[in-house]
Amino acid sequence: MKNVGYYNGKIGPLEEMMIPMNDRAVFFGDGCYDATLCANHIPFALEDHLDRFYNSLRLLEIPFTMSRAELTAELMKVMDAADDDEVMLYWQCSRGTAFRDHAFPGPEVKPNLLIYARPYKIVPMDRTLKLITMEDTRFLHCNIKTLNLIPSVIASQRAKEAGCDETIFHRGDIVTECAHSNVLILQNGVLRSHPANNLILPGITRKHLLELAKENGIPTNEDPFTVQELMEADEVIMTSSGALCNQVVEVDGKPVGGKAPQLLKILQDAYTKKFKTYTKQI
Ligand code: PLP
Repeated sequence: MKNVGYYNGKIGPLEEMMIPMNDRAVFFGDGCYDATLCANHIPFALEDHLDRFYNSLRLLEIPFTMSRAELTAELMKVMDAADDDEVMLYWQCSRGTAFRDHAFPGPEVKPNLLIYARPYKIVPMDRTLKLITMEDTRFLHCNIKTLNLIPSVIASQRAKEAGCDETIFHRGDIVTECAHSNVLILQNGVLRSHPANNLILPGITRKHLLELAKENGIPTNEDPFTVQELMEADEVIMTSSGALCNQVVEVDGKPVGGKAPQLLKILQDAYTKKFKTYTKQI
């Protein structure tokens, strides 16, 4: 099997899996998810992703009872069934299956766990990206990895229509993050990112990159920065589990970054080393 689906313990080809119409994910997007890249049959930074997943569940008050060890075992089962060296592993939990009613269902309704694994080609980090910007009109709970992704869907479509790779969100002048990635800048030798508060998703790649910067003597700063600072930055970097750590060379049709390639390379090489060490490839 290549594309593997899982729903509450049942495994099958992803293309053939069915979920109940009354799953609250269908009506309300009432659930949360997480995802990580697996290489060499090892999910990268799984502990971090599980921390974020259980935190999202807690914030959404979803009474998911599976322990970390049990969930890990189910995730590994699905990843192994995909039987590929590089796999994208995705999992989500909805509040359960019940007739449509906004308020939570009773305690008899148990959360639903959905997982899928698909072969994935890790994209090389020497790729350069073109992004657009858009006002961030999302809600004020962006730290929760909820299934409600409509603003990100629209923003990704706008990027695609513009022949670009991603959309940078900003609230007024302040850059927050991207539709499905984080954005950081290198400015005067300092790696900067929006603080990990309620306005952004605390990206795991972002977290590792900030840690690697410190380990490599590159100072970091998590004060918000403006769109203008981004446009004038020495380098603009987009991070996500799927795309890793990429250089951005154009925003809204204007060239950006390209002024600190050595620092960027230090960060990218450190990230590659961390990824390969974790996944036992070196
Ligand atoms: N920000 C948003 C809105 C995302 O959806 C994602 C990934 O899905 C990220 C940032 C990057 O997070 P991570 O590095 O954990 O993949």
